Amino acid sequence: MSALELVSWVTQGLFLLLAVASIVTVVRRPRPASVDAALFFGALAAIIVESRVAALFGLTRSPGLSDLVVILLVAVAYLLLRLANDFVAVPKLALRAAEIGLAVITTAVLIVTETTLSVPVIVVLLGYFAVVTLGAAFVFVRASLRAQGMSRRRLRAIAWGSYLLGGSIAIVGLLAFVPALAGVVGTLIQLGALLSAVSFGIGFIPPRPLRRIWQTAELRVFLRSAGRLSRSPDTAAVIREIERAAGAALGGRAQVGIFDPARGVLIFDDEFGRLELALTEALSGRAFAEQRTVYTEDAARANPTYADMYRKRGIGSVLATPMTAGDDRLGVVVSTQRRSLAFDEDDGSLLELVATVAAVILENRRLIDEAAAGREAAESATRAKSSFLASMSHELRTPLNAVLGFSALLREQLESTLSERQVRYLGNIRDAGEHLLELINDVLDLSKVEAGRIELRPETIAFDALVEPVIASTTAASAARGVAFAAEIADGIAVQVDPGRVRQVLYNLTSNAVKFTSPGGHVTLRGAAQGDTLTFEVADTGIGIPAAKQDRVFGAFERLHEGVTDAPGTGLGLALTRRLVELHGGAITFTSVEGAGSTFRVELPNAVGDSLPADRVLVVEDDRRDADLIVALASGIGLRTEVVRTVDTALAALRRARPRAVVLDLRLPDGRGEAVLKAVRALRHHVPLVVVTVEDDEGLTRPLGADEHLVKPIDGERLVAWLEAAVEQEAALARSAG
Ligand code: ADP
Repeated sequence: MSALELVSWVTQGLFLLLAVASIVTVVRRPRPASVDAALFFGALAAIIVESRVAALFGLTRSPGLSDLVVILLVAVAYLLLRLANDFVAVPKLALRAAEIGLAVITTAVLIVTETTLSVPVIVVLLGYFAVVTLGAAFVFVRASLRAQGMSRRRLRAIAWGSYLLGGSIAIVGLLAFVPALAGVVGTLIQLGALLSAVSFGIGFIPPRPLRRIWQTAELRVFLRSAGRLSRSPDTAAVIREIERAAGAALGGRAQVGIFDPARGVLIFDDEFGRLELALTEALSGRAFAEQRTVYTEDAARANPTYADMYRKRGIGSVLATPMTAGDDRLGVVVSTQRRSLAFDEDDGSLLELVATVAAVILENRRLIDEAAAGREAAESATRAKSSFLASMSHELRTPLNAVLGFSALLREQLESTLSERQVRYLGNIRDAGEHLLELINDVLDLSKVEAGRIELRPETIAFDALVEPVIASTTAASAARGVAFAAEIADGIAVQVDPGRVRQVLYNLTSNAVKFTSPGGHVTLRGAAQGDTLTFEVADTGIGIPAAKQDRVFGAFERLHEGVTDAPGTGLGLALTRRLVELHGGAITFTSVEGAGSTFRVELPNAVGDSLPADRVLVVEDDRRDADLIVALASGIGLRTEVVRTVDTALAALRRARPRAVVLDLRLPDGRGEAVLKAVRALRHHVPLVVVTVEDDEGLTRPLGADEHLVKPIDGERLVAWLEAAVEQEAALARSAG
């Protein structure tokens, strides 16, 4: 057998296969398109079989049979056009013309009795065949352009098959005029016919691996747009986005119906409004209830109740598939088109894949929404707790202060008349009250930090001024307990922190260190700058923390030595301490050995300033709110400030650098402001000074050298006016001196 013969056998074999397959399809699913496909391939197959049988047995055809073969060949072209018409409507006129042509040719063939066809007749026959086949090919191209996804690829293959078939036959016509070309062109025709058969095969019965590849490509299109879904703001937007992506992958429109289990309906939302379908209704209801993909070519006919709705939405065919995540039936995905689907099985399996992905996306979205709702509930619970605690603490603190005040008063006034036992009882009342007050304050602070309601107020402050009150109180507490205390604090640096909060941290750490160290032990406070990080260390030689309990140290209400020592406390100190440190952007760590001692270490990044500004206003004020106000007023007119709260630190600040002006409170924790006033006046240069105090007593401060005396509450306007004048005067003095 020659190669050419082999090609011819394969080609004819393929066409026979296609005929068998299309006849099987008609039997299984009788549809106009499958009927026409079966007729087309059936006619081709009949011609092939006839010629093979004739050749095999060396039969000469009877004239009637020859006529039939010619008519069948011409009919093949017409049948292909009809098949194309099932996918995209062929203009009526063209269809009629093809029918008339077929009728004329058939009649002519039957009337004319010549056995051999003359050249002009052959040209007419082949011309008809070529024109009609190429016309059909053109219709398939249009159909493919309207389709999406796999249907588009399949229709394109069919268009190729038609072109190749029509083209090959047209060339046969040409041969009638140029017989010399028969050898070369014959080969071309054979190859064209083979390619045509392969293309039709790909279009009508695509092999499984090819389907897979096509499906993957379409699914990728869907997945790419699905990737953007997680960023959509809400579930409704996610659904719109799935519909858009599924529509792009399948062509036509896609809609997602969400199942509402409470009411047992499927809910669709689109530009026409909301549609609720019971599960017994419509195709989507059936797909959901039966949990399988269903297809109908003509929705309005299949479901007349909804004919109006289908018409309004321009829906012809409907393909619906359930959307299920695990055991959760979420709803359906429906793909609708104006026309029927060319290959609904392919589209159905693609839609099933899309629905699977959509289900996963929606399920995720639901979990995210649920988590967000949970978080929102937790946050609002925290807010409620904080505001409850805030108001409760306030309510508790007032009577508690009365209890404390009166127990102190009783003790003061009646101590001599009370028995020793009664004095002890009074002491118990005071201790319990103080413990309760500490607890309330800590709880309140902790809940404020948790609710994000504590705002830091960083100030530039000399390092020694920052730790000075901590050292003072630790010195007193450690002396009372018989513990040695030492402080090693770096000299001459300025820091930028919230002094109140940093002191609170240090108080907690040093008081714990003293509390958990037996008499005779040591406590050390170290403070240093490493680059722009401020570090503190509080080390003790106390009882230490058992290794097994170390992970609980920073927990709220954790008291790890309960029953071991009778050290008082609430178990909240370190929880609060850690939060305050973190609020500063810092970290707290510790090492501890049971029986040998503990070291707590705090690091506050970006807390060390270059140095304290020399050209600053010195604010000597121990009341935090007043100090804040003065700092704010001064910075409002571009002045820098240094805040100190004791006489000692004020004197140290004066020694370090001469300020531009001084704002001085009189009642300070370690003495009277007059001491500072005297020191300022002892300087070589005149530094403007204003006294700001609750004491309305100008007679005393003016003679000492105060330039101005303002009585609290602070009158912002007057203070600002004074500061402006003072700075002006200081500048003038500096100029005249210079
Ligand atoms: P409180 O001191 O009010 O009990 P804290 O939160 O400050 O609460 O400390 C929690 C627990 O950690 C303490 O009860 C104690 O058991 C342990 N602890 C804290 N600091 C030290 C320390 N320096 N040495 C030993 N144990 C400590």
